[in-house]
Amino acid sequence: ASSAASSLVVAPVQLTLRVMETSDLHANVMNYNYYQNRQDDSVGLVKTATLIQQARDAVDNSVLVDNGDLIQGSPLGDYFAKVSGLSTGVIHPIFKAMNQLDYDVANIGNHEFNYGLSFLDEAIDDANFPYISSNVFIDDGDNNADNDEPYFLPYLLQEKTVIDQAGASHTLRIGYLGFVPPQIMQWDQANLTGKVIAKDMVAMAQRYVPELQAQGADIIIAIAHSGLVTETAKGLDENASYYLAGVDGIDAIMFGHAHRNFPGGAGYEGLEAVDNIKGTIRGVAAVMPGYWGKYLGYIDLSLEYAAPTGWRVKDSQSV
Ligand code: MN
Ligand code: MG
Repeated sequence: ASSAASSLVVAPVQLTLRVMETSDLHANVMNYNYYQNRQDDSVGLVKTATLIQQARDAVDNSVLVDNGDLIQGSPLGDYFAKVSGLSTGVIHPIFKAMNQLDYDVANIGNHEFNYGLSFLDEAIDDANFPYISSNVFIDDGDNNADNDEPYFLPYLLQEKTVIDQAGASHTLRIGYLGFVPPQIMQWDQANLTGKVIAKDMVAMAQRYVPELQAQGADIIIAIAHSGLVTETAKGLDENASYYLAGVDGIDAIMFGHAHRNFPGGAGYEGLEAVDNIKGTIRGVAAVMPGYWGKYLGYIDLSLEYAAPTGWRVKDSQSV
């Protein structure tokens, strides 16, 4: 009887999903330092593009996200915002480049607001991938939080065909959330007052994670333009990655804003519940890829499917 029973045991379906991230590119497309007027092969999306291609080619399953602070931060960004402008039909050169790289989704960073909302809208409508932001809402001026409408798409549920270790294909439903520091309301007050409001990142995660789950998300990835600190949250925190890791249902955190590397970056050793080698925050897989395209960050998420609970993260390693 025991051998008959064991022959019925089906090995769980397992696969690895590589979740790749660029962040804080700051309009560095070419391998060039415009401030010093010289070639710099350590920076630029042209460099990251090669890293993306290599990382993608090495695995069966991958997705690619950008985490914002994209359109500002180099003379190229300033030129298109302040000198030439973007007339309808003109594609921002940053998106001409990014549109070649098969991004799955992108998040809005704080510097996206530096040139105002109409420039931002005109720029990102050229992207051939969707933009999300889960904590920026239209300012309707009525002091009623219940009826606030998101300014951007608040989240994305995307179906991805993936291949398991036995070579069988599956449809994985990936939920994405995107966050920006609510401090945009001070930093870009002149551009934003009366137009949008920004809410607490964790509160919006708690609101939208159950919505994504109800819509059938198998895993949920938070793209947080937000750094990592471990002191107690005060509410409306600028650096909320640690607090987001405490939201039940978030499986991975692609973070940024701090212009540092995680795992491995200085300053992240010895933090409570932070694994600076494996790349986890409170047990949740996490990565941050530095800035200006110097690095590609990625998380190899080991996923396992078992009925009736469905897909779960069994292990991870961030690079
Ligand atoms: Mn930045
Ligand atoms: Mg930033």
